[in-house]
Amino acid sequence: MTNFNFEVITLFPKAFELINNLGVITRALEKNLINVNLHDLREFGEGNYRQVDDKPYGGGAGMVLKPGPIYKAHDSIDKLPKSKTLLMTPQGKVMKQQDLLRWSTLDQIIFICGQYEGFDERVRCLADEEISLGDYVLSGGEIPAISIINGVTRILPGTLGTMDSLVDESHNSSLLEYPQYTRPQTFREMKVPDILLSGNHEEIKSWREKKMFERTMDRRKDLIINTESLNTSTNYDDKKKNKKN
Ligand code: SAH
Repeated sequence: MTNFNFEVITLFPKAFELINNLGVITRALEKNLINVNLHDLREFGEGNYRQVDDKPYGGGAGMVLKPGPIYKAHDSIDKLPKSKTLLMTPQGKVMKQQDLLRWSTLDQIIFICGQYEGFDERVRCLADEEISLGDYVLSGGEIPAISIINGVTRILPGTLGTMDSLVDESHNSSLLEYPQYTRPQTFREMKVPDILLSGNHEEIKSWREKKMFERTMDRRKDLIINTESLNTSTNYDDKKKNKKN
């Protein structure tokens, strides 16, 4: 069974209590499919006050995380053979489902979470990748790190009951998922499309394919036009086949 290690360097370890209340992610923790090890940056702080931040050289607003404590925290972590360090920053590459799939083949991710105005530029040298959750600025790297822990964990073998639920979902290929319905057949005068009740699996399959295309054209044409996403489909079908072999 997978045993995936997430190591988090953070000033706010308590933020990660959320992981204990996240359904399948919590179960993955309980089943020992993943470990989440928190490294409190304060413990690596300097001087009597365990200082972790300081004023920026050249002036300007706010405080910047010092390089020393972050390097010490990073040095203190035993690195596994397939380990990557991800620096959380709004200046990084905006993460995509393809990145989660790529990282899910590692056995360790070390996160560095910034706070305040960010971190000393020299911290960037520790990073294998600089990653952004999106084109907006949050107050810290904790929520981006939790998002990655969540997204990677749910695609690890053994976390979801079946890998099948990953095959058609949005962003696996360059298309968004088709519309889904469950009971009742009519809800507040809104009916489930007849085709889904027909029992004709071939027709249901082509209806779903058509809907995936229409929906993506309507909402996210950029996913179809963007050739990068077309060429790098994460393809859980292949993953499933490899698992079976
Ligand atoms: N002044 C910095 C932003 C600091 S925000 C700048 O302009 O680049 C404080 C910290 O929150 C960052 O160091 C980073 O770790 C985290 N953070 C904020 N927004 C983020 C995002 N979109 N993606 C990933 N991390 C983010």
